[in-house]
Amino acid sequence: MKYSRILLKLSGEALMGEKGFGIDSSLLEKYSNEIKTIHEKGIEIAVVIGGGNIYRGIEAQESGINRVQGDYMGMLATLINSMALQSHLEKLGCDTRLMSGFNVNQVCEPFIRRKAIRHLQKRRIVIFGAGLGKPYFTTDSTASLRAIEIEANIVLKGTRVDGVYSSDPEKNKDAIKFEELSFNEAYEKNLNIMDMTAFTLCKENSLPIIVFDMNKPGNLSNLIEGKKIGTLIY
Ligand code: UDP
Repeated sequence: MKYSRILLKLSGEALMGEKGFGIDSSLLEKYSNEIKTIHEKGIEIAVVIGGGNIYRGIEAQESGINRVQGDYMGMLATLINSMALQSHLEKLGCDTRLMSGFNVNQVCEPFIRRKAIRHLQKRRIVIFGAGLGKPYFTTDSTASLRAIEIEANIVLKGTRVDGVYSSDPEKNKDAIKFEELSFNEAYEKNLNIMDMTAFTLCKENSLPIIVFDMNKPGNLSNLIEGKKIGTLIY
């Protein structure tokens, strides 16, 4: 296996599938199966899910809601997604723990770095909900920081596209896909891989990222075995 401990980032938007809002359970079931497959290969897995399928803080102001309040609403949205993923993984027989960036003691435990590492060592799939528990951050920054904290080998960013392109491949047919990029090249080309906070955290801590298509069956598993899938940023 190429990696022993990974952080998988799934966007909230990916969870809604064709539905346009909320959670498409069949997708969650599919993702859970993919996660279970690599877990059975002995990989330690932490997951961060976004909340964009339910709520985004940045949209709050347009609807007359204070930005910070909106960000907390977004963090709650990530918790909803995390709880749904936890249920699906448990249905498949996986042992899991959900850890939250802010206190919701009735629902799950708070994030404590040493505990998270212990859970991973005990073969539990750890889900980090509620982002970093602070407004003005994103779940991409959560993925980067938590990955550094738990000493993951890599951040795997599962998306709807199969890597990083020179421009948006859904809008531009001539967009070119990059096999790999250094952090500096990605900066220079102004490529939108993660927000700057998330990206800088990875760069400064030499934590590589792979952007890949999470919807293609077997992709996650192949990646773990070291096959070249998606785009590597190093
Ligand atoms: N959020 C936040 N702090 C965090 C993580 C998330 O304030 O540490 C809020 C922010 O408003 C964000 C929302 O939660 O818009 C949902 O997360 P995100 O937009 O990253 O989800 P994705 O785009 O991956 O679906």
